[in-house]
Order: sequence, then C-alpha cells, then structure tokens
Amino acid sequence: MCAMLLNILKAKNQQGQKVEFEQSLALDNDLISAKGGEFTCDATVKGYYLYEDEQLHLVANVSVGLLCVCDKCGEKFEKTLVFPVEETFVEQYDLHDNESYSIINGTSIKIDEVVTDNLLLSLPTKLLCKEDCKGLCQVCGKNKNYYTCHCEQIQQELERLDNPFDKLKNRR
Ligand SMILES: [Zn+2]
Ligand SMILES: [Zn+2]
Repeated sequence: MCAMLLNILKAKNQQGQKVEFEQSLALDNDLISAKGGEFTCDATVKGYYLYEDEQLHLVANVSVGLLCVCDKCGEKFEKTLVFPVEETFVEQYDLHDNESYSIINGTSIKIDEVVTDNLLLSLPTKLLCKEDCKGLCQVCGKNKNYYTCHCEQIQQELERLDNPFDKLKNRR
C-alpha cells in the first residue's frame, strides 16, 4: 500500500478556517483477512481539516464496504463500515522523531495510518450478518436463520429429566 498524502496547503493559507475534503483510499486486505473479511471498494474519507497554531486538526468519517463471514452462522455478508477519525498533526521540527505518524510534512500529511488504526479500533469483536443472527444449531448444525429444529429443546428436556433435583421438585 503506498502512503496516501493529503495536501493541506489550502488550510495553511487559510489559517483557522475549515477546509472540506473528500478522498478515496485503498485499504490493504491484510488488515481484515484475520477476520475472514475483504474490502469490496476503496474507503472514502470525508471531512475537514483546519490549521491553527502550527497544528492541523483532521476530523473525518470513513466508510468502506466489507465482505465478511458471520461469526455465528458462517454465512458471507456485505456490510458498510463507518467510523470517525480525529487526529491532530503537528509540525515536524525534530527530524529524528520518526516515531510519530501525526506530523506535518511541509504541506502534506499522511493519513493511511490514522485511518487504519481507527479502522481496527472500530471493528466489532464479533461480525454478525444481522443483529439477531440465530447462528447454527449446536446439535444438528443447521442454520437456525433458515431452519427450525427442535434439537436444543429436546436436549434441554433430556437434561431436565436427568437432573435428580428436578425430579424431586416434580414429585412434590
Ligand atoms: Zn449470521
Ligand atoms: Zn438442530
């Protein structure tokens, strides 16, 4: 992935004023391959930046299409991931400070890392095809979003019959 630079000359020339921008950014599939996902399009980064007191404030929303695998039922589904990005970039005076990515390089800033960091933070720990995905039956393995089976009900019933405490309770 090549670094994406955002030209901020306009913001530097109009200090204290918001400059709106929209950029597309190609994201590396490696970012989400561990979760079994892939990007279906470039990310769109849209927002504004503002230069003031030798600092650049970036406020944006990123949206990107994802094709991923549901953590519960294993079905593939598409989803649009939207997350905010907010970062302050500072002028780089100390040339030895290469640690920080939030520096201003003359008239541009690099936004890849800010975007990918925020993407990873905003990824839900579980990717679900829908909020109330019923998942797979633990017994017969059928996708409970499409099939109704009574396996779990039967198992619960068997467990109840097996439980001596319940038997006593029933005798009363
Ligand atoms: Zn699902
Ligand atoms: Zn079942």
